[in-house]
Amino acid sequence: MSPLRVLTVVGNRPQFIKAAAVSPGLRAGGDEVLVHTGQHHDDRLSSVFFAELGLPAPELELGVAGGSNTSQTARMLAALEPVLAAAPRPDCVLVYGDTNSTLAGALVAAQLGLPVAHVEAGMRSFDMGMPEELNRVVCDRLSSLLLCSSEVAAANLLREGVAGRTEVVGDVMVDIAAAVQPRARARKDLVAGHGVAPGRYLFATAHRAANVDDPGSLARLVELLLALPGPVVLSLHPRTRARLASYGLDGRLREGGSVRVVEPLGYVETAALVCNARAVVTDSGGLQKEAYLAGVRCVTLRSTTEWVETVETGWNTLVGLDAAAALAALEAPLPERRPSLYGDGRAGERVVAALRDAFGGP
Ligand code: UDP
Repeated sequence: MSPLRVLTVVGNRPQFIKAAAVSPGLRAGGDEVLVHTGQHHDDRLSSVFFAELGLPAPELELGVAGGSNTSQTARMLAALEPVLAAAPRPDCVLVYGDTNSTLAGALVAAQLGLPVAHVEAGMRSFDMGMPEELNRVVCDRLSSLLLCSSEVAAANLLREGVAGRTEVVGDVMVDIAAAVQPRARARKDLVAGHGVAPGRYLFATAHRAANVDDPGSLARLVELLLALPGPVVLSLHPRTRARLASYGLDGRLREGGSVRVVEPLGYVETAALVCNARAVVTDSGGLQKEAYLAGVRCVTLRSTTEWVETVETGWNTLVGLDAAAALAALEAPLPERRPSLYGDGRAGERVVAALRDAFGGP
């Protein structure tokens, strides 16, 4: 077999974390070109993860950020086309998750006749009002190799009649979380640094379009956070910070002092705060999984989730922006069982093996 040559497209925080589980394996015995679209350019959302998780520095940075989803995707398409068309031709283009970078990478590759491999294929919220859902559905249609985190995801693809080869490999984010959480849990100093005690605070994040882009929804989010039993450590995404400022809601969030607003944190510090929290309150996809893995209750500020198993097992509750439902969820008894979900922490290895098998021919 000739060494596999992969061109990987990443662009935002969770994609750097996911790629950290795969890129080193691809580079051992093969070639990878890592292309960073620039979707997240802020250091706290980008370079910190390369340094902390050992992700190789990108070979190319395209500097495409900002604007509406449509305009950002359009600029990514234009910027990626010459990169993907340039020789030497990769054996496949690898994309992760559900962002504009995912869609742009997959569409340019498909237009050029390059096979697409999609990690986290088949995830569905069944809410086509979510920009991420549009990206997922289209990307899966364009993919030749669909690498799924769970059987539920694979069943979604089967039901949709998606043509590519489907494999359940487990979840690459779980690989990283499983490796980091044991030492992060012990880092009580990182928890104390926020002026809170283990087991006696909530860790919160929010940045989904449906929660922060509209002033009415953002005001409800702020009221919900203020209604929670404090202290609440809120890692504030730059998108949410910008909306709070433009809708004049940042002062309200700081009233009373129960919500401690912090800048986006590095991966280990976040893991320390997750593992030691009384509960996680979030609209993030990744944090729903990480809280489950840590054995910490999650209260999800959405009415749907792609990570349905975390809800079915009783560890995650969907509350939307309903403050009373969030308070009730925090008081509900926790289940005794926490079966292992989303793989055994070796999904990255399986992704590399599946890519070699599918595209690494002689
Ligand atoms: N995360 C982080 N620092 C933070 C907040 C989150 O490192 O301040 C990590 C978190 O542990 C998870 C990932 O970022 O691994 C989730 O990313 P995000 O919520 O931006 O995206 P989503 O998962 O919703 O697509």
